[in-house]
Amino acid sequence: MTGEATPRPEARAPRGFVDRRSATLRTERRILEAVSRVYEAYGFEALETGAFEYADALGKFLPDADRPNEGVFALRDDDEQWLALRYDLTAPLARYAAQNWTSLPKPFRRYAFGPVWRNEKPGPGRFRQFIQCDADTVGSDRPEADAEIIAMAVEGYAAAGLARGAVTIKINARGLLNGLLAANGVDDPGQRLASLRAVDKLDRLGARGVSDLLGAGRLDESGAYTKGAQLPARAIDAVLAFLAAGGGGRRDTLQRIAGVIGGSDEGEAGLEALSRIGGALDSLGVGETEAVFEPSVVRGLEYYTGAVFEAELTLEGGAGAAFGAIGGGGRYDDLVARFTGERTPATGFSFGVSRLAAALAAAGVAETAPRGPVVILTLDPALMSDYFAMAAELRAAGLAAEVYLGASGMRAQMKYADKRLSPAAVIVGGDEIAQGVVTLKDLDLGRDLAAQVSDNRAWREERPGQITVPRAELAAAARRIVEAAS
Ligand code: AMP
Repeated sequence: MTGEATPRPEARAPRGFVDRRSATLRTERRILEAVSRVYEAYGFEALETGAFEYADALGKFLPDADRPNEGVFALRDDDEQWLALRYDLTAPLARYAAQNWTSLPKPFRRYAFGPVWRNEKPGPGRFRQFIQCDADTVGSDRPEADAEIIAMAVEGYAAAGLARGAVTIKINARGLLNGLLAANGVDDPGQRLASLRAVDKLDRLGARGVSDLLGAGRLDESGAYTKGAQLPARAIDAVLAFLAAGGGGRRDTLQRIAGVIGGSDEGEAGLEALSRIGGALDSLGVGETEAVFEPSVVRGLEYYTGAVFEAELTLEGGAGAAFGAIGGGGRYDDLVARFTGERTPATGFSFGVSRLAAALAAAGVAETAPRGPVVILTLDPALMSDYFAMAAELRAAGLAAEVYLGASGMRAQMKYADKRLSPAAVIVGGDEIAQGVVTLKDLDLGRDLAAQVSDNRAWREERPGQITVPRAELAAAARRIVEAAS
């Protein structure tokens, strides 16, 4: 080994992990603040739990059901216990609620936000680390609790800057499809799961593809064959009729669903839940197009036990579909019971903040990059203490300011200020100090004026956008430029 140079690592972010700069961060923070305000207005309290949970606390409810051991990032602690990075904010809440149940106010209403990690194949809009913002009610089985969660989601998207009508919350109840299958003699859990997966592909494969997957199976274009759920023909017809029952107002949809669901306890319970959610949505003032009943909504996470919700972007021309769901949630009545043995009904919703930020950018509502600080050029190293005194003065006046700390000359320093989107540069050398003045350059104005001047010498002489003021007026002059810029 001796004498061999250590190979240099290639500077690259791991797949599915995204570096985010200030404009994106700004959008995300604005979303988090807006959504948090909505949650707090409804009486939800903030809670933060750690990034890691014991792997057994996360359970088998991993996002990718096909790869149950690969959905999380896990490591072994020094006491041999397996830890895993949380893959959502719901499983940690269930653990927290179970751990603290006796002392919590019940029902427990909390909101939380932060990064979650999923060890899955990254793709467009699909990251391995992304931010979620959730609200959940633990300890209430009232459908009104679901309706409230949906109403907050509707308000949250509006508060985040999406026009009302740009987002639709689609609501379904897990029991409906199960009940429908039961009414048609399908009780096998494997067949039920395969049916659920088939229905989940409606968007991509259409009714024909789903029908094949519900039956014998489907051969796709690449020649790969997927075995079907092997349902009898009459059950397939019933499922397809159920899937076609969506569209239109909530009351009408419910009536159509009731018409195809057939008598089964689970189906009836699902209908009852949706009907009560619908009633509560009406009284909460949630519009008919803001939240709809949609039988084709399945939702991936397997811990849902009742109503499920999914938020879809409905941008003009169908552009929203490209983003996938921008939020989702539902009722999970068994998650806390994993720890306590006692059934604890719960319901919640998760904003996919990272995806929502991308969606807002597409809808033209994203933040532009924030303006940079006032940059104090360092023209003379002997004046560093003066430069720092000026920066402190500007900061005390409430303006962001920095002293240029690189080693380049004046032109490069001006370029730096431009690249930082600075509104102003402070240009002070020995002459200015001697005369008791400071020179400020309005960089926006300078850029505009420079564009109009073709003669280089005239430009230098006119020094567009530049003003010289007494030293005592530095902060006031800088403020005028900064305020005009923003
Ligand atoms: P889930 O926790 O799977 O119910 O997801 C809730 C929301 O988080 C989804 O509607 C998406 O907006 C977002 N989301 C889920 N998975 C990802 C991912 N891999 N990358 C980015 N956003 C995601």
